[in-house]
Amino acid sequence: MTDQFNRKINYLRLAVTDRCNLRCSYCMPEKGLEWLNRSAIMSFEEMIRISDLLIRMGIDKIRITGGEPFLRKDIDLLLSGLSNNRLLNQISITTNGTLTEPFVGEFRKWKINSCNLSLDTLDRETFFSITKRDEFDSVISTMNRLLSEGIEVKINCVVMEKINIDSIADMVELTRNLPVSVRFIEEMPFNGDLKSFSGNFWNHLKILEHIRALYPEIRKTEDPAHSTAYHYSIPGHKGNIGIIAAYSRSFCGSCNRLRLRPDGGFQTCLYGNPVFNVKDMMRSGFSDEDITKFMINAVQLKEKDGWEAESMAKQGQSIFSSMATIGG
Ligand code: SAM
Ligand code: SF4
Repeated sequence: MTDQFNRKINYLRLAVTDRCNLRCSYCMPEKGLEWLNRSAIMSFEEMIRISDLLIRMGIDKIRITGGEPFLRKDIDLLLSGLSNNRLLNQISITTNGTLTEPFVGEFRKWKINSCNLSLDTLDRETFFSITKRDEFDSVISTMNRLLSEGIEVKINCVVMEKINIDSIADMVELTRNLPVSVRFIEEMPFNGDLKSFSGNFWNHLKILEHIRALYPEIRKTEDPAHSTAYHYSIPGHKGNIGIIAAYSRSFCGSCNRLRLRPDGGFQTCLYGNPVFNVKDMMRSGFSDEDITKFMINAVQLKEKDGWEAESMAKQGQSIFSSMATIGG
């Protein structure tokens, strides 16, 4: 499946819930966010039906995200249902790590060989001030369990002025003895409250400069195809470093992604609005064939880049919802 710019589209990011047990300041306000009604959220059967159609269209990798995926009751049923499709090569998951550990032993059975763990600091107090919850120990315990099960661990660390800059060195140090990939992410405006986005962000160049000052021996390494991260290694470290230009959007030219929101919104760019709603179509009795036609058409028209998507979306409604409703 290719789009109008000849990009091969083979990756679906499936947000299974908008709810979360943390309140990361860059993602959602501490209070006042309205959750979707349960009936507005796709059932697992609906998610599996759409995923199976997309797999037939050429999707071979699905990332489960949210909100916090492990807040969704019986998430194991979704994971085993998706993994039953033999054409699907890989399922990966992005989680905050607070409720994840009991499921890690089953990951391989569900084709999950890689897990992205959100962790913005190794300082307990800073963790609390970012997430508003005392869950640092459970995240660290999940990280250790993932590593002991041989699951690839990528740590997502959003870089925020005055909040966790002092933690960057600790996060890099984590890669010295552990085979983890620490990915520093530019902050984006999806925090459910656009007013509180300063725009005073650390871009990928500034993040690299900061790390290079601490580790002059840092080396650029090859970036895998479709990767959103610039990859680096530090000689002697078991893990590696990634820097994700999520706000600068330097990776759109090779974007291979589609997104499904928990309410069925079908989105072809992170910075755009949903193009149509697959849950509404399914509940109105549309056939698999009709839904497939809509999806093929939307993929064809996938935006050139995040800047174009953002400017088109702004002509409609405000696109800057919480990241928990888009899935990152
Ligand atoms: N709850 C899970 C978690 O935190 O890993 C999955 C959902 S979360 C929305 C997915 C990713 O989006 C997380 O790694 C988080 O750090 C990132 N994220 C959320 N809001 C962001 C923002 N405003 N800018 C950059 N990254 C953000
Ligand atoms: Fe929850 Fe993930 Fe958003 Fe943090 S980043 S509030 S853990 S959804």
